[in-house]
Amino acid sequence: MKRKVFRTLISVLTLALISAGCSVQKTNKTEYTKEADAVSSASKTDYTSLDKLKDKYDVIIIGAGGAGMTAALEAKANGMDPVIFEKMPVAGGNTVKASSGANASETKFQKEQGIEDSNELFYKETLEGGKGTNDKDLLSYFVENSASAIDWLDSIGIKLNNLTITGGMSVKRTHRPEDGSAVGQYLAAGLIKNVQAQKIPLFVNCEVREITQKDGKVNGVKVLINGKDEKTIEGKAVIVATGGYGANMDMVTKYRPDLEGLVTTNQPGTTGDGITMIEKLGGTTVDMDQIQVHPTVQQENSYLIGEVVRGEGGILVSSEGTRFVNEMGTRDAVTASINALPEKSAYVVFDAGVKSRAKAINQYEKMGFVLKGDSIEDLAQKMNVPADKLKATLDTWNNAVKDKNDAEFGRKTGMDNDLSAAPYYAIKIAPGIHYSMGGVKINANAEVLDKDGNAIPGLYAAGEVTGGLHGKNRIGGNSVIDIVIFGRQAGVKSAEYVKSN
Ligand code: ADP
Repeated sequence: MKRKVFRTLISVLTLALISAGCSVQKTNKTEYTKEADAVSSASKTDYTSLDKLKDKYDVIIIGAGGAGMTAALEAKANGMDPVIFEKMPVAGGNTVKASSGANASETKFQKEQGIEDSNELFYKETLEGGKGTNDKDLLSYFVENSASAIDWLDSIGIKLNNLTITGGMSVKRTHRPEDGSAVGQYLAAGLIKNVQAQKIPLFVNCEVREITQKDGKVNGVKVLINGKDEKTIEGKAVIVATGGYGANMDMVTKYRPDLEGLVTTNQPGTTGDGITMIEKLGGTTVDMDQIQVHPTVQQENSYLIGEVVRGEGGILVSSEGTRFVNEMGTRDAVTASINALPEKSAYVVFDAGVKSRAKAINQYEKMGFVLKGDSIEDLAQKMNVPADKLKATLDTWNNAVKDKNDAEFGRKTGMDNDLSAAPYYAIKIAPGIHYSMGGVKINANAEVLDKDGNAIPGLYAAGEVTGGLHGKNRIGGNSVIDIVIFGRQAGVKSAEYVKSN
């Protein structure tokens, strides 16, 4: 178990370093460097050195994931002197690992590509996915500001103009990088580049342990620097962007004892610190037992196999060589179907066409997860499933794609292309802990609320640390846009607060 944690830590840190454009030598360097170079020339040495640390800032941002870096950029654009503290040795958080894309409706890229969509439909499908339990105020703000978030990213050199689809959505509204690659590394690298260009100090190895208050107003933080020196830093406002708690098994099992023993896709810094600190200030939480289990996780490396593989045409196949579910159902539904199989695991099966459209697969291949067969029979042998069954499954599926009618499971999306281009591929997967839908309660101004619904003066939160937006099931692609929409809002609103106090 320890070795697994260590391996995961190493792969996360390596990815994060690569995303920041660092000179980490690894077989996959070329590809990441190419992606990173498109948006970033950031390097490890560009993290701010500690001798630059001041005693006071306007806005203190805790956590250098997508939400934190976005908030810092907006705070700065609104005239603030912000600082970011990150407890890990690298920036990026779980954001670096995001694969599928960023959902948004009524965007210029959808319009350019003739994709009809509306904010109302996005709202309706997200609410259905969340079983009607989503915070309606947050959800309205979310859908109405999704297109402008895509525009804002574009304006700072992060172009998400390649559209795909995720489970539970009926139209292509998942925006990803032009070359179809995983969104997280590209987004994190782009944000780091902008943070550096704006000269926003970003200190790594700085763990915030406490948020301080005076006369009922937040007024700073206590930071543990390099694991030894604690310093108190003053701030007129604090934005908590510490991510979820999916790597803190004590917290996970406190709320969900049934998840004991599952692997987690979360980076090791995802330990719910922000929630603990905010609760100490009287902030309240929502939906803490709503922890998303992702259906397709490669188990040995706890590595998420993105929904894009199914969105681009992949299917799920059991050890019998047959399909067993609508692969584009919501994550909770697909997870339940896998858990109902005797072996509680399955294969994502796809062809050369899917591989060319979902660039994230190149990474899975480099990590050694992908079985390859020159023919269906060859693949069946490698998967150890009956070849005649697998062949029949693919024949039936290809007919369903041709007729646009999946009579077996009623799948309606991710059917633009059949699975007929050799070679064929499969990745073995099973469910894993993925995302904290629960978290601290905020309003649409990103203000942290106490149990009576009052905002705690000077305290803001954004991203996975918050709860309520996604309700009981998060739709794939909604968290990446969440961190941009509410990260921006936290930056803007904290600046307004600082100016008026
Ligand atoms: P989001 O998607 O909401 O931006 P991420 O997981 O991408 O969340 O980023 C959260 C970041 O916050 C991670 O890089 C994590 O290491 C960092 N973090 C968590 N707790 C602390 C803390 N106590 N002090 C500083 N940084 C923290």
